[in-house]
Amino acid sequence: MTINIKEIAEKDRNSVLHPFTQLKDFATGKLGEPTIVETGKGIRIQDALGNQLIDGFAGLYCVNVGYGRTEVAEAISRQAFRLAYYHSYAAHTTDELAILSDRLVKMAPGKMSKVFYGMSGSDANETQAKLVWYYNNLRGKPNKKKIISRERGYHGCSVVSGSMTGMSFYHDHMDLPLPQIVHTGVPHHYWGANAGETEVEFSARRAQELDKLIQRLGPDNVGAFIGEPVLGTGGITPPPEGYWQAIQAVLKKHDVLLIADEVITGFGRTGSMFGSQHYGIEPDLITIAKGLTSAYFPLSAAIVGEKVYKVMEDGADKVGAFSHGYTYSGHPIGAAAANAVLDIVEKEDLPGNARDVGAFFQAQLKERFAQLPIVGEVRGVGLMGAIEFVADRDNKKRFDPTLKVGARISKAARERGLIARAMPHGDILGFAPPLIATKAEVEEIAAIAESAVRSVMDELV
Ligand code: PLP
Repeated sequence: MTINIKEIAEKDRNSVLHPFTQLKDFATGKLGEPTIVETGKGIRIQDALGNQLIDGFAGLYCVNVGYGRTEVAEAISRQAFRLAYYHSYAAHTTDELAILSDRLVKMAPGKMSKVFYGMSGSDANETQAKLVWYYNNLRGKPNKKKIISRERGYHGCSVVSGSMTGMSFYHDHMDLPLPQIVHTGVPHHYWGANAGETEVEFSARRAQELDKLIQRLGPDNVGAFIGEPVLGTGGITPPPEGYWQAIQAVLKKHDVLLIADEVITGFGRTGSMFGSQHYGIEPDLITIAKGLTSAYFPLSAAIVGEKVYKVMEDGADKVGAFSHGYTYSGHPIGAAAANAVLDIVEKEDLPGNARDVGAFFQAQLKERFAQLPIVGEVRGVGLMGAIEFVADRDNKKRFDPTLKVGARISKAARERGLIARAMPHGDILGFAPPLIATKAEVEEIAAIAESAVRSVMDELV
């Protein structure tokens, strides 16, 4: 299809409210023309001007099987021709939905029981909050409702999930967070540790702080803790050693549920199928989205563990139907897309690829960046990684935010044909390429990023 670029750009500027975009700069043209993305194949996308870009961020850490997978497109098309839609209310289902749910319950970590579907990570976390509240109401603990999340955690942008998100710029001017959501310290050793404190000591301190917070709020008032196995949007930060073990001991002690937000880490990104398996996390509830369909269709889920589900089933005679659901819960096209994507994840062993190619990628990042004078930390796991830039390595001093170092480096990478994300918190360049990436491809990503970093470094020092 040939498109009229000028006309599309004009229509877009006049009518699309773009997420995470400076509205005035976009409206006045200061941000330049919108990028019209037209096609994609493997780890690359192409815009309407014919420019090819390596997508070093898999869209928004989601196109794990890569672009242009005809198997998935065919599964979607087949289902659309067969039955484009039916709801899953009142015990209706489709074959694809039942098969997918059975698969997810079996493959998910911990003792899982049922799967509730939504369309986005945000709405799935909204569901998780309601499940926590429902569970504790049914257990006769009507005050056990507060949910603790971490500073710099990211759990979405809706009202409850946006409150769980622990970065103030997601709250400002939007009347968030809600009072039911409380934040605790970020598990980032580089910025948070005291002088000489080991990772294990730092983790133990974070766990003690959580313990104190729960005591202060009253254990009978705290229902759940939500965390990403690896902090994602808050800076792609793997947990310090011993963190999850220490945190889980505190949660167990106070009978607080653990929600693992696996929206990014689910389906292979860390090198394990789930981040929970990678770090020995035993969740009561699991949130999935993104990699579930590799973003070929909007689909998310809250996976409900046996412990929570049992209380829900036992309470049913008392409260009647489970009164929560969306028109599109368990959408058959989404389920067909997910089954086709999971076939690829399993057949091509994408967690294994993320582990092997990921180890090579992490080594590349360390080798090329760790010693540069503007680099404070290089970190990551599997096929997710980040470089954090600082003005002063010895004193861990950040750059003046007005220099926009992260954004400039990301722009320089873009000019060289690579999408690597300027993470919203600090001067951080983030990577999360599709999980099908080869060693040659991640080497190309690292090489282009190095050229971009060096060009901005030359302007700074
Ligand atoms: N949870 C995590 C860990 C995420 O990274 C995201 C999105 O980036 C979300 C939840 C929200 O998902 P969505 O943007 O689909 O609402």
